[in-house]
Amino acid sequence: MVLKVSHLGWCLMVERKKIEIPAGAKVKVSVGAEEKFPFDISPMYEGERIRKEDMFVELGGPKQVKFELVLALPAEQVEDMKVTLVGPDLDEMQEGKEYPYAMIYYIAGSKVETDLEPVIERRNHDFQNYIEGYMHLNQRYDVWVRIGKGAIKKGLKSLIQIAKATMMLYKNELPFIEKIEALYITDKALVEKLLKEVAMPIYEERDKRVEMLHDEDVQEFYSCTLCQSFAPTNVCVVSPDRPSLCGAISWFDGRAAAKVDPEGPNRAIPKGEVLDPIGGEYSGVNEFAKQESGGEYERIKLHSFFEFPHTSCGCFEVIGFYMPEVDGIGWVHRGYASPAPNGLTFSTMAGQTGGGKQVAGFLGIGINYFRSKKFIQADGGWYRVVWMPKELKERVSKYIPDDIRDKIATEENAKTLDELKEFLKKVDHPVVKGVVRKVDGKKITEGWPEEKKAEEKVEEKKEVPATPAAAQPAPAMAMPMQPTQMPAFQLPAMPMPAPQAAPAGIKLVIKDAKITIGKIVVKKSKGES
Ligand code: SF4
Repeated sequence: MVLKVSHLGWCLMVERKKIEIPAGAKVKVSVGAEEKFPFDISPMYEGERIRKEDMFVELGGPKQVKFELVLALPAEQVEDMKVTLVGPDLDEMQEGKEYPYAMIYYIAGSKVETDLEPVIERRNHDFQNYIEGYMHLNQRYDVWVRIGKGAIKKGLKSLIQIAKATMMLYKNELPFIEKIEALYITDKALVEKLLKEVAMPIYEERDKRVEMLHDEDVQEFYSCTLCQSFAPTNVCVVSPDRPSLCGAISWFDGRAAAKVDPEGPNRAIPKGEVLDPIGGEYSGVNEFAKQESGGEYERIKLHSFFEFPHTSCGCFEVIGFYMPEVDGIGWVHRGYASPAPNGLTFSTMAGQTGGGKQVAGFLGIGINYFRSKKFIQADGGWYRVVWMPKELKERVSKYIPDDIRDKIATEENAKTLDELKEFLKKVDHPVVKGVVRKVDGKKITEGWPEEKKAEEKVEEKKEVPATPAAAQPAPAMAMPMQPTQMPAFQLPAMPMPAPQAAPAGIKLVIKDAKITIGKIVVKKSKGES
């Protein structure tokens, strides 16, 4: 059934209005365009990284509350090129410290509509990275900004200059924005309050809207190639059931952006023929991906972890990692700093997985993909998931089917592979005996080999009763079990952490063997103290 998308409206729309600034707040205001900036502005600064030792201050980031938000308002409510800063400015900040940060833009124009807010908001990342000495990472409630010492030396004095440069870029690059006004906030209490009361409900409203729509309901998906500046072969394909991996673009957002700028980074992709309804493979998507990736890859399956997975550019909110030891998939989000049970941190895995490639065994996704009814459905969906940090699990808990929720471990249950194995066995997770894919009832994994051996032994014991029974019918022969079918690919080389307990990385399990040893000589190897 093809739904009329226009009927899937804004049922729970959060009111768009200007933020009220509390009486008595420390406020700086500037109106009108800036003539000159004490820094260069050019796309060549995209990708500029500011290391901790070179940073003057950090705004937002892992240690502070932060967000960015675009609100579409009627033209009469927006004062063009006005900036209001609430809280301490750069000249009142201490070098080397971190501060809260909110960047809110009010926009207006005859073509500007609420649907465009997320797409325009995502461009804040691009435009701010054009500013020399200013680094912007991530999106929404995860923004992380660093201002370099070099920029301060060159004459950067105020965040108002940053806001003015960003607004100038918005108006130059997106001419349908007729008026733009900025509100920047570094006052912690106000950032916290607005994140909770304004920004989060709006992000939720955007995310919820797309839940009502599915891939089969539409004729077109939308591309996003914004990240090709640093991941040249990356093509994000945004469908109703697969929101973007950065979390900032949904199918509705892609549609709105393609409407105002059909040749821009968000373009319509006609779906074409359905080649694999479970994996989510479409001829139109394959053609588009081949063309836009410069032939780097030819096939994409939107809902597959192992086979022709979606590319990962590096902006993903969450990374999935396959653990062959348990034949299951774990997920870790950007904010979780400890190693996952495979011994690797988010940043180590992200460093190897980004760059716009299809990396088998790893997959970058947006948190909203956990809401999708087609979440990695080709590989068993939630029934193949074995581990995620507690914080992430709690956040998406209501989307996890009831019969698997308690079987997915967190760091409270397992920090290592051994602990994870023990936990999964204890709760009888589907990976232990084999995962059955819910969407078509197909058994897609065979379960753990040792579990099968154990089962076979139990069967054998049952077959040889202690007291011979003369008239027993012959038991049905148990078919010999196949070893677990691990997905056929090689995990990319990763810097592995030092082993925690065992001194060597290889575990030998020898079964049913007789070993005779005449003599053992233990020698110290050269260079060992
Ligand atoms: S991660 Fe994908 S959807 Fe998000 S900005 Fe980059 S290319 Fe666009």
